[in-house]
Amino acid sequence: MTSANLFDLIRAGALDFDKPAIETSDGLSMSYRALFDRAGQAANALLALGVVPGDRVAVQVDKSPDVVVLYLACWRAGAVLLPLNTAYTLAELEYFLSDATPRVTICRPSAFDATRDLGRRLGLASVESLGVHRDGSFATLLARAPADFEPVPRAGSDLAAILYTSGTTGRSKGAMLTHANLASNATALAETWRFTASDVLIHALPVFHTHGLFVATNVALFSNATLIFQANFDADAIVAALSGATVLMGVPTFYVRLLAHAGITQASTAHMRLFVSGSAPLLPETHEAWRARTGHAILERYGMTETNMITSNPFEGERRPGTVGFPLPDVELRITDPETGAALEQGATGMIEVRGPSVFQGYWRMPDKTREDFRADGYFITGDLGKIDRSGYVHIVGRAKDLIISGGFNVYPVEVEAEIDAMDGVVESAVIGLPHRDFGEGVTAVVARSAGADLSEKDVLAALKSRLARYKQPKRVIIVDQLPRNAMGKVQKASLRDELRALYSGE
Ligand code: AMP
Repeated sequence: MTSANLFDLIRAGALDFDKPAIETSDGLSMSYRALFDRAGQAANALLALGVVPGDRVAVQVDKSPDVVVLYLACWRAGAVLLPLNTAYTLAELEYFLSDATPRVTICRPSAFDATRDLGRRLGLASVESLGVHRDGSFATLLARAPADFEPVPRAGSDLAAILYTSGTTGRSKGAMLTHANLASNATALAETWRFTASDVLIHALPVFHTHGLFVATNVALFSNATLIFQANFDADAIVAALSGATVLMGVPTFYVRLLAHAGITQASTAHMRLFVSGSAPLLPETHEAWRARTGHAILERYGMTETNMITSNPFEGERRPGTVGFPLPDVELRITDPETGAALEQGATGMIEVRGPSVFQGYWRMPDKTREDFRADGYFITGDLGKIDRSGYVHIVGRAKDLIISGGFNVYPVEVEAEIDAMDGVVESAVIGLPHRDFGEGVTAVVARSAGADLSEKDVLAALKSRLARYKQPKRVIIVDQLPRNAMGKVQKASLRDELRALYSGE
């Protein structure tokens, strides 16, 4: 049996080991050979920490090329990668670690003491640290380890990663992704977007989320291309990199912010062959403005953690603003009646359901949730509402799931509401997304205070600081005496959204 291990596939496809795999703005250039060697050292270090195939390895570290080293090391050692958002607070981390019970947890050096204490409390085997300058206890273990490591053979159905997505019912769910899920998507995207070894991808996305982690990184590594790693979004840094690059992948917020930069011109983008947007809706006006300024039509695609990417506008052919294009090869996509699951005719709006090789295996230790989200014939119910137009383009019309996407990050209102509702002086709260030019949607809390309570916007914001990752914290808190309800007693979020529509119009 040939191994379906992602590491083996990436290494087998790297025809030139000497070309740079990852470069950074501070001058580091790591060849494919160096990347594989270092991943071998890291795999040996994981082995020394007791990792056996199937073990989870939790990673909550700042972005650097060593994150890719670590990912490859996990796959090489047959372990399951568990990347965690660096913005998660200790309170949030506690849930993920107790749910996933990783054999090894690797955190930032600055968070080492707190994470080790948490690990001890939860009975976790080992906690190590890794910094962006090859510092931290894991870097020391790695430096002492040999580079040779025979990759553990994996079947396509073996788990490669668990990515937590916030839950609509409060608790985050771990989406279980296999080696075959990730490999099939990387291959499909590389083909669809015509990736070759000559590509140089500007990578300014986080590496704990499916977009930066799998879409951008895997597509480049599967193509023997080069990644320019930037620590975070910085318009100046992107503009500076354009002349030596060929592709940029970003969330809509990137494009909105780049349009405000005078360095984005036809001339400065002349070396680029492709701009991709995803993770949140790209406004047609942003698409048009980008085309008018640079001559490039941004290619919008659609997907999610659970399914990997499922549709893309065409590389050749019309990239239609306001649509997410066509299903990728081998992806079956249908629109159904959200209540009954019956397939609807072309043009009708309904639930987007998908089936295909990139669709995940279910939620970690949540068989009931998994059953709820799949149809009997294997289609996954995405929670997104859409339609397929006469030319076959898929449009996303809205979301059946109560989800806010702010700056490309997902925020589930229920999680924020639960934190606010637990505060003294609060009766209840409703968290909604309001139009925001920069972030797409701005997280906004409407809070009903108890009679006579002395509660201010500042109090609520201050209390949330240590409880929720920054991107989940409301930009504004509106204090009211009571929330609007319909005849059934349900809080009317739609009317709050209408009423407060212009809250961020000045920003
Ligand atoms: P995530 O799992 O964080 O990638 O979030 C997935 C969700 O982001 C999807 O279910 C959609 O609601 C949304 N999304 C992703 N790409 C797009 C897009 N191009 N247009 C509109 N919504 C999108």
